Amino acid sequence: MQEYKKKNILIGKNLEELQNWTQINGETKFRGTQLFEWVYKRGVLDPKQMTNISDKFKNLLENECIFSTIKLEKLSTSNNNKTIKYLFKLKDNQFIETVSMIDGKFHTVCISSQVGCNVDCKFCATASMGFIRNLTAGEIIEQLIYVRSNVNQKITNVVFMGMGEPFMNYDNVLKSADIFHDNLGFGLSAKRITISTAGIVPKIQKYIDENRNYNLAVSLNAPTDKQREKIMPINMIWPLKDLIRVSNEFSIGKRKNIMFEYVLLKGINDHQEDAINLMNLIKGINSKLNIIPYNETDGIYKRPKEQEIDNFIQILLKNQKKFGYRVLVRWSKGQDINAGCGQLVVNN
Ligand code: SF4
Repeated sequence: MQEYKKKNILIGKNLEELQNWTQINGETKFRGTQLFEWVYKRGVLDPKQMTNISDKFKNLLENECIFSTIKLEKLSTSNNNKTIKYLFKLKDNQFIETVSMIDGKFHTVCISSQVGCNVDCKFCATASMGFIRNLTAGEIIEQLIYVRSNVNQKITNVVFMGMGEPFMNYDNVLKSADIFHDNLGFGLSAKRITISTAGIVPKIQKYIDENRNYNLAVSLNAPTDKQREKIMPINMIWPLKDLIRVSNEFSIGKRKNIMFEYVLLKGINDHQEDAINLMNLIKGINSKLNIIPYNETDGIYKRPKEQEIDNFIQILLKNQKKFGYRVLVRWSKGQDINAGCGQLVVNN
């Protein structure tokens, strides 16, 4: 930690910040652009390998700057080799997890935005850690740099669905997303970046007001306030009527689908009546409805049987065109290494 205090941490700085930093240090603004490309576009974190900058500047970078603040602690690969879970150690000895999933030509990376989480969704393993701290933009970005250098398939999608509630770390999440999107950075199209929230309504509103273009996913998980409060206490602060209102506003304003996530929990939200209520709740909102059969952890919640999952989905499918939503079933990958949705947890 001492080392970090004395040095400049450059990972996580955006283009303007790097350009300012290089100018303060007697270099041109263009040097800042070069640094931005080296770090984010090419993933080069060692100044010695930055071939188009002067030796003098390389020395300054080597002696006074830090480009990497996370270290790989453990790597787990699923039986089919398509999912890899990374455990990273942070500079203050905290840990986070990141998941890389390959599905045909798609390579999706699920990144964490916080150490732990205080939103306390009852079915989520991360919640059991409590909230420890927000990740810096650098710690968020380095997860992607690491996966990109480790997996021999181009990253096509980034989802902020790992540990933490992204909108509780709004500024760092959006700063990272902007660098993922920047052509001089990772160059990912906005429609390939998804931010998922448990329903922090004022932050969703801010996101709409700022005219952000990244996909938005909302964890719905229950069709009534009474049911949702039991599994997502955050519903007591921002109930469904407010959540549905902003979701609709997003989809109308952006003229694009909002994603609703619905983790299907046996005996909790998987009844036929729940499917009908859910259908009516999102009726008229241009949306994708992701049904996610629960990935079991050590807790009390269970995944419904396949027949029950199918019954639930069939009800939703009947009216999808008429009601304006599209149903998708997301069978999480990497459950054998606890890398499925809601399974990420680190026990120190
Ligand atoms: S589901 Fe997301 S928001 Fe809810 S506790 Fe888990 S990490 Fe936090």
